[in-house]
Amino acid sequence: MRSALLTGITGQDGSYLAELLLERGYTVHGMVRRSSLFNRSRIEHLRSDSGLYGKRLFLHYGDLEDATTLRRILIRIRPHELYHLAGQSQPGLSFEIPESTVREVGLATLSLLEMVRDLDEQPRMFLASSSEVFGNPVESVQDEETPFRPVNPYGCAKAFSTNLGRVYRQAHGLFVCNGLCYNHESPRRGESFVTSKIATAAARIAQGAPEVLELGNLDASRDWGYAPEYVEAMWSMLQVATADDYVVASGTSTSVREFAQAAFEAAGLPLVFEGEGIAETGRHSRTGEILIRVNPKYYRPIDPARLVGNSAKARRLLGWKSRTSGRAVAVAMVESARRESAR
Ligand code: NAP
Repeated sequence: MRSALLTGITGQDGSYLAELLLERGYTVHGMVRRSSLFNRSRIEHLRSDSGLYGKRLFLHYGDLEDATTLRRILIRIRPHELYHLAGQSQPGLSFEIPESTVREVGLATLSLLEMVRDLDEQPRMFLASSSEVFGNPVESVQDEETPFRPVNPYGCAKAFSTNLGRVYRQAHGLFVCNGLCYNHESPRRGESFVTSKIATAAARIAQGAPEVLELGNLDASRDWGYAPEYVEAMWSMLQVATADDYVVASGTSTSVREFAQAAFEAAGLPLVFEGEGIAETGRHSRTGEILIRVNPKYYRPIDPARLVGNSAKARRLLGWKSRTSGRAVAVAMVESARRESAR
């Protein structure tokens, strides 16, 4: 039976990947960190399954900042596959907490690579890289050859981590794959991300909450995909003969304004936008009520330029492609938020 260790199993991607691996017959080990509030909501359905938990699903306390424990877990479990997903995952926040972001996103990868290098039986390794490594890219559509030009501490740390993965693959022969993942969302997205903020606000307002949603730069646009599809790409990378790096993207760009429009429409709140810059508002197209307002507080010090990924290589070598558009993701998130708030 194949086994996998996941760092970040309690996160959005970790929870979907754990489901995928369990469905495919793996024994899944997840590293979880201690917190004052129990933080297992995304994997609670797996934890409460008595056929899985303690039989094919195991959780181990650890922390990226605690190398001794991580090493011990690795030595004890000896997984066939290691998916490294943990770390501070909010690019904008990395301006506020740069040191811990860089330690978790950059240095922790170095520790893990060193641990794996020391093992007699080395697992295949997936590193969750990010489109944020491209930051202000030289090409309008980026692929695996596009130079890294990050514009925030998170992107710098991901660039460091990605380069280390490449170096350890070449210098030490480790089977390490970098997934250069563009933004991927789902109903399990952390609530401080803009997509989640939009979807939950649309659901609340549709149920009568007297709320005005405040957003940052409405022109910011991202290549948004659907997280359950992106974890399929992560798994596929470790199943082919040769380790490599892959762009994982939808190939289309959606602005925050367009995402909000799709989300509010799905909640029965059609929007029109008027005004410009910080004076721009999103109004209900029939009642004229202001539902969205711009607040410069949410602007990033530097916003990445238009990030759009070309995942032709993943399609060619892994048979993977994104199937859900940014707008369809918005609709799925709103529908889920409406179901949740109706409970
Ligand atoms: P997420 O929902 O924020 O999950 C992050 C996970 O990391 C959580 O399980 C969290 O644990 C854990 N974690 C954070 N700091 C840790 C530490 N010091 N020690 C141990 N665990 C720690 O992120 P995600 O969306 O699933 O993303 C997964 C990975 O893909 C991340 O590395 C992210 O940077 C990268 N990525 C994501 C996207 C995207 O659009 N989602 C795009 C590109 C790259 P708690 O639950 O305890 O907080």
